[in-house]
Amino acid sequence: MSEFYLGARSLLRLRGIHPDLVRVVKRAIEITDVDFTVLEGVRSAARQRQLVASGASRTLRSRHLTGHAVDLGAYVGGHVRWDWPLYYSIESAMKQAAKDVGVNIEWGGDWTSFKDGPHWQLPWAQYPA
Ligand SMILES: [Zn+2]
Repeated sequence: MSEFYLGARSLLRLRGIHPDLVRVVKRAIEITDVDFTVLEGVRSAARQRQLVASGASRTLRSRHLTGHAVDLGAYVGGHVRWDWPLYYSIESAMKQAAKDVGVNIEWGGDWTSFKDGPHWQLPWAQYPA
């Protein structure tokens, strides 16, 4: 068990997220070696359009729009950090957590064209919008 827990802000950002994905995140925080925070959950269409326009996202069909995706940021020394090794630690925890609670998830870090280390989502096939 880790010493980490989801803070009030993280819990707020999980509002509207599909309960299966919430279960994975809540299990992951119990077992992760690296603390993380929920950066973003449900996203408005307006914000998604902004992100695509700025190049931060590649799709208007983001799973964030429907509550099927969350972004997790490594939280170390009081700051969100972007170094990849931290995200591989979170990856281990999230994938183990998904097994523990019996939910299939996809990691943006496994994508080949546009790697998105903070991004986690429920698969379209099993969870159509
Ligand atoms: Zn995302």
